Amino acid sequence: MADLRELYLEMVTDHAKHPRNRGKVESYDSIGTGNNPLCGDKIVVTVSLDGDTITDVKFDGEGCAISTASADLMAEVLTGKTVQDAKDIFQGFHELVAGDGTSEVPRKLEVFSGVREFPIRVKCATLAWHTVIAALDGVDEVTTE
Ligand code: ZN
Repeated sequence: MADLRELYLEMVTDHAKHPRNRGKVESYDSIGTGNNPLCGDKIVVTVSLDGDTITDVKFDGEGCAISTASADLMAEVLTGKTVQDAKDIFQGFHELVAGDGTSEVPRKLEVFSGVREFPIRVKCATLAWHTVIAALDGVDEVTTE
């Protein structure tokens, strides 16, 4: 468990400092804004779609290390997936950070099980996911409150 925790801290620090998917998708199909007033995280997610397949995801905004790292990995994991895949992965991810974590999640997301030790951070870790799912459903603004 100590290893996973170390890996978690390393991963969060790395992705928060050097996000690979920060920015805005040019000619996006969906856009969503997410707010987590509890922490002060604000995020804008843009998505381009080819039919039902997510071809590109980017995020922008201001947030803590956990919300930024989670948004960056979310973008990485969802590129190339279908809208339904995205919803399934989010459900698994939510169970991982806030529930019993019995669902399968892509390996890259497994380190986020470390968030369970910090319940107040669950909203930081899930903000980008709530935002992207809302955007895909045509809802342009979400808040964790
Ligand atoms: Zn936060």
